[in-house]
Amino acid sequence: MDIKNALITLQKELPEEVALVTVSKTHPVDDIMEAYDAGQRIFGESRPQEMKAKYEALPKNIRWHMIGNLQTNKVKYIAPFVELIHSVDSLKLMETIDRQAEKNDRIIDILLEVRIAKEESKIGWEKKEITGLVDSGEIFMFPNIRIRGLMGIASLTDDNDTIRSEFSRLCELFLSLRERYFGEEFDTLSMGMTSDYRIAVECGSNMVRIGNLIFGVRDYKN
Ligand SMILES: *Cc1c(COP(=O)(O)O)cnc(C)c1O
Repeated sequence: MDIKNALITLQKELPEEVALVTVSKTHPVDDIMEAYDAGQRIFGESRPQEMKAKYEALPKNIRWHMIGNLQTNKVKYIAPFVELIHSVDSLKLMETIDRQAEKNDRIIDILLEVRIAKEESKIGWEKKEITGLVDSGEIFMFPNIRIRGLMGIASLTDDNDTIRSEFSRLCELFLSLRERYFGEEFDTLSMGMTSDYRIAVECGSNMVRIGNLIFGVRDYKN
């Protein structure tokens, strides 16, 4: 019941054009079914094997999004069914996704993960790297991949100005890449989680990834 209420409240609050990815990593299938029964269809996971097991156990009209750091040797677990991979941060990973997509006779949609936080994390591309790969054409080498937009994780801080400036920079990059290179099909800007989704939406996000607010605090982080 709590899950259902949290979802209803959140859906009311989010503007219509903002898609909600319910982040269900570490949560059991019963919790997912509760959210499903409340109408939720997009679920985010961060571990390929966990996503695959849940895919097999749950209704087939669930749309599975990979949001966590993805190792190339694990792409095969999710390639047959994943709807969107948010966390693509290397050409090597793109190459693997492209090959797995071809094997499964489908096109796989991805987002490029951009490093926007100032802190430690080495995950994600620098803005410069992306514009370089676009200019050189290298990023367009994969016929079985469709690049749908960008994803970013802001700094873990209470300083809203920092978060706001990081999200705003990502939105600017998103808009300029769309206008200069990718066109209409580049339509997804994934930013915002439980602690910062309101700021993200104000800064132009049209896809938020929310776990804790819906399911309560997880036992462990990953
Ligand atoms: C876990 C996770 C989320 C959800 O975080 P919450 O704080 O539970 O809302 C969003 N994005 C990514 C990449 C995550 O790993």
